[in-house]
Amino acid sequence: RAARNGEDGVRGYAPAMGQVFLRRFQLVTQFRQALDSGQVEVHYQPKVALPGRQVVGAEALVRWSHPEYGRLDPDEFVPVVEATGLVDALTSFVLERSLVKIREWLDRGLRMSVAVNLSVRNLADEAFPDRVAEALRRHDIAPELLTFELTESSVMADPERALPVLRRLHAMGVVLAVDDFGTGYSSLAYLRQLPVDEVKIDKSFVLGMGTALGDMAVVRTIVELGHSLDLVVVAEGVEDDAAREQLVAMGCDVAQGYLISRPLSEERLEAWLRARTKKVRGTRSETVLTL
Ligand code: C2E
Ligand code: MG
Ligand code: MG
Ligand code: MG
Repeated sequence: RAARNGEDGVRGYAPAMGQVFLRRFQLVTQFRQALDSGQVEVHYQPKVALPGRQVVGAEALVRWSHPEYGRLDPDEFVPVVEATGLVDALTSFVLERSLVKIREWLDRGLRMSVAVNLSVRNLADEAFPDRVAEALRRHDIAPELLTFELTESSVMADPERALPVLRRLHAMGVVLAVDDFGTGYSSLAYLRQLPVDEVKIDKSFVLGMGTALGDMAVVRTIVELGHSLDLVVVAEGVEDDAAREQLVAMGCDVAQGYLISRPLSEERLEAWLRARTKKVRGTRSETVLTL
């Protein structure tokens, strides 16, 4: 679609760039109000322990219903919001909702964790761990029911600042997971030095397992590596039974993906859970099993 001559090219290109900038500018300026006015929602995607079918928790994934642009996925607006101080408000919002959810479940006998995605700015914020501790206390929630997911690149952006924050969160007992593992530039040596408990295999490898032998090898290698470092290994992007079977055979610990459920609004999540909740015999607690 490149311009054949300079003039057309300039005319064809400039408005499109203008649109992109305008939209980004709008997203930044409108985000605060969007948070306050209920346009931003947290959806949850369940996770199950392998090889069984017990639901152990869910990942919190943010959604924005924009009045003009419709449903926006985080891939579009989170990077824009991350470029501003507003990401603190986003993380606080998702964390607060997630803790309310965990508390609600505990109050009816369900013990499930929620994983919240952090951004690079949270890792550079030395006051962040204290705010998390305060929120856990306020909701009376044990730290091990909260997981934070961070990417390799967000840690590597400024390891000097990120490491103390991670160490502090880890010392508090919050679970730390490396997200999208395998896509970054980092090495195994680096993974060993991070104070993390869990590694999430990037969905691109899991999705490719059925067709690409290379992806199968990558997944198997990450499972083995993770276990050799005593980490819980989670696979995301589990879309079919074949992938699930392969992950079980490899010894992967937890699965997340469309096979189990798509990310669900709070209301739909509750219906999904209700349909699958069983009493645990001889106790007051309950457990959720997938079909
Ligand atoms: P992520 O943390 O790696 O989240 C997993 C993404 O994979 C989600 O996309 C989820 O909907 C999608 N997914 C789950 N299962 C499957 C599957 O079986 N097949 C396929 N093809 N995809 C699957 P989503 O919700 O669009 O989120 C995209 C990214 O945005 C997330 O990637 C995360 O990095 C970021 N994000 C989401 N919520 C937040 C948030 O509250 N804060 C921050 N900082 N980032 C967030
Ligand atoms: Mg998406
Ligand atoms: Mg994640
Ligand atoms: Mg991921």
